[in-house]
Amino acid sequence: MNLSRKLRHRSPQTTRAGAARAATGVALVLIIAAIFTGAVRADRPYAPSRDYHLQNVRVSLRFDLDQRKVIGEVTHTLSPLRDGLTHLDFDSADLTVSSARVNGKDAKFDLRDNKLRVNLAQPAKAGEKFEVNIAYEGKPTSGLYFILPDKDDPNRPKEIWTQGEAEDTHHYIPIYDYPNDRTTSEMILTVPGDWLTVSNGKLLSVQDAAGGMKTWTWRESLPVSTYLISFVAGEFKEKKDNWHNLPIAYYVPRGMEDTIDPTFSHTKQMLDFFSERFGVPYPWEQYAQTAVDDFVASGMENVSATTLAARDMVRADLATEKNEAADGLLSHELTHQWFGDLVTCKDWTNTWLNEGFATFGANLWEEHEYGVDASAYRYWRDQNNWMPSKELFPIPIVTRDINDSVEYVGNVYDKGGWVLNMLRKQLGDDAFFRALKHYLEANRLQNVVTADLVKAIEESSGTNVDPFFDQWIFGAGAPRFSVKSSYDAVTKKVSLSVKQTQKVEGHVGLFRVPVDVAITTAAGQKIFPVEVSKADETFSFAVDGPPLMVLFDKGNKILRSLDFQKSPEEWIRQLQSAQDVPDRADAAVALGNIKDNDSVTAALGEAARRDRFWGVRNEALRALGRLNSPGARKQVFTALFNEQPWVRQVAVEQMGRFQNDEETVKRLQAIYKDDKAYSVRGQALQSLAQDKGAGTMGLLEQALSTSSPDDVLRHSALRAMGMLGDSAAVPSLLEWSSPGKPSALRGVAIGALGRVDLKNHDITARLVSYLNESSFDIRYASIFALGRRGDPSAIEPLEALLKSGQLSISIPHAVEGLIEQLKMQNPSHKDSPAVDEKTADMPGVGASNNQVVVDRLDRLERQMTEMNDRLRKIEASLTGGRSD
Ligand SMILES: [Zn+2]
Repeated sequence: MNLSRKLRHRSPQTTRAGAARAATGVALVLIIAAIFTGAVRADRPYAPSRDYHLQNVRVSLRFDLDQRKVIGEVTHTLSPLRDGLTHLDFDSADLTVSSARVNGKDAKFDLRDNKLRVNLAQPAKAGEKFEVNIAYEGKPTSGLYFILPDKDDPNRPKEIWTQGEAEDTHHYIPIYDYPNDRTTSEMILTVPGDWLTVSNGKLLSVQDAAGGMKTWTWRESLPVSTYLISFVAGEFKEKKDNWHNLPIAYYVPRGMEDTIDPTFSHTKQMLDFFSERFGVPYPWEQYAQTAVDDFVASGMENVSATTLAARDMVRADLATEKNEAADGLLSHELTHQWFGDLVTCKDWTNTWLNEGFATFGANLWEEHEYGVDASAYRYWRDQNNWMPSKELFPIPIVTRDINDSVEYVGNVYDKGGWVLNMLRKQLGDDAFFRALKHYLEANRLQNVVTADLVKAIEESSGTNVDPFFDQWIFGAGAPRFSVKSSYDAVTKKVSLSVKQTQKVEGHVGLFRVPVDVAITTAAGQKIFPVEVSKADETFSFAVDGPPLMVLFDKGNKILRSLDFQKSPEEWIRQLQSAQDVPDRADAAVALGNIKDNDSVTAALGEAARRDRFWGVRNEALRALGRLNSPGARKQVFTALFNEQPWVRQVAVEQMGRFQNDEETVKRLQAIYKDDKAYSVRGQALQSLAQDKGAGTMGLLEQALSTSSPDDVLRHSALRAMGMLGDSAAVPSLLEWSSPGKPSALRGVAIGALGRVDLKNHDITARLVSYLNESSFDIRYASIFALGRRGDPSAIEPLEALLKSGQLSISIPHAVEGLIEQLKMQNPSHKDSPAVDEKTADMPGVGASNNQVVVDRLDRLERQMTEMNDRLRKIEASLTGGRSD
């Protein structure tokens, strides 16, 4: 939140160069808020020096629901770290303090610059013990959120939940709010008698209180960083269980009971798996997982009590359509209970020690539960998303320069997970997991920096990993390989020319990496390990005959891009016979660029139908979609019989590219009517909209009146209306965007309104009216729809929204970028910065051209849709759909 405030204070004149970053940052801001979990936004890369050590925090909270107010009392037990301290400072925002007492006596205090200063009667000595009691109240703008029924949604469950990371706990408790201290805590919540509450550690008691209320007392007896303190309270349903005598529980908002089993069924296996794999038993007194509405992220690893987004829960009637259920999210947060919670980064510079491990842990679970192909495919996709990123590539994983870099978040998650997986491959499982165990044990309940991990690895395995960390963690980028192979029939040698083509500058250097070269001849496959370290080098391998297939970095063990010149026959052989998923997926991608070649099309069709792993089938389908020839269409049609809905969905999605084709339209209409999976039927509607075939509008109207689980079909119909771009859809879209309709559908309808009848100012005015609603999702969708419409009358309302300070996590950054875009599209607007030469070459910034902005939004949406199933669902509720 501090970062956002700083951005708000920048004048338009100084933000132009930053606008490119802000605008590209939009994609990442969305990604942060949408998928990832506890998005880190912080402006203090260095941990502050401490005056005292916090030992215990005892918080009592009551709530005024009508006023969305918290009424609290906190008692801090603490001990100064040096002599002569005359006052004690606490972080505090949005709160009014009515009294402060030190060791039972009234103390003078003042509040300024988000600090509460409590004066001591006389200078303190190091090691002395103080009890500081503070009474306060306030209306938090972040950190604590009220979800309440209103006239449009009178039955919605009442909920209050918190989100502490990065530095937001001090918006509802005056407290030391940075990770580099740890304290035990007590959370005492007085709430209506029919509510449930969930907090950290152990539930000590539930007692009747005046006025039909109940007081719940929770205690976390192990010291944790204050951003991990949390609670949830409200109208929830619970399911209790236990795991080796430890209480575990699942909570969902009233009315979502059917999601509990399909979402949480793997929890106990995950607890067993991670306890065994990390070598340290699950360390806390309970494990609660609570789904809440309108959560600001997908999940947050609060100590022993993870909070999750209700929109990510798996519905029973759609469970068979969902690949890997919600396991990715659940295993990410559960990994954090060790990496992030038991051992916590000392400062945000070292966030990758939290997020890289959580990403790695989720992939580890995926490998265990769904097989090595599934996790290899995940890494391959993460790599292909990360490598082209111009923003992420030049920034090291560990950098102090995080003030202006929302981009860096993409490094600490995906690249962080990748780097840990490389380290695992290079050390071997035995040494690697021994090192993790040692790292966890040596730093248990402490705060860490990257050097602590390096040291633990060296102590447990003897291996000095400084060079590895220097290039992958403190250095930036990754190798971009360009490889050519040739065969000399006389000497029977394969020679491989290997170039590293990344630009060596800034933090990006040449890489020294171990690479497996695999050469297959008629006699079979042989693997040659080599070390690549130069910009340009040639390796030579003795073989027993002409090579049939040459793989560089077999199995994709290195984070890299690879440009390997091969003939169509070689790629086909690789698609058909490489052992590892990444090598077959690479071949599918390469074949998708080879036009007018019947054997290529046939091989891709074969792979789309029969590859033993679904991900390769999907890549083959995407390659056929890109080829988009009559032959490729035929192959896609034959793959429509795939059993997994998530493969059929990709096939149907590709059909959206086959425009002006009668048979495609007929088939899509039949799929919409007959497919067993709602997700596939919904995709058919969207592909029809892309085809823009006659009669589609009628079908969409019909779908809009059809009930389906979770409104999947209405959802798709609204999205498709936006894609179709037909003004005839405006009345339906306005109707479904209105207050009173289900919030998820409103979000989609609003997104679609961003794409139709762009000259119609009434639509803009309607979207502007939604900016003042309390729902995070509705405001979010409206902001983006306004950005897409490009109507300058939205600029002032957006600026007013920004100034109001009513925006929560991640939003201000996105709004700033959109305001800049709108101004640049509309140079006549009075605040429009003039285009200058410096910015003119930045795509979408210098050019005051509507199309550029639309392209940027399209690209943004594409990036988002490519992330994963979870993101896909959220994105669908935010924007009007993809245009590619
Ligand atoms: Zn995380």
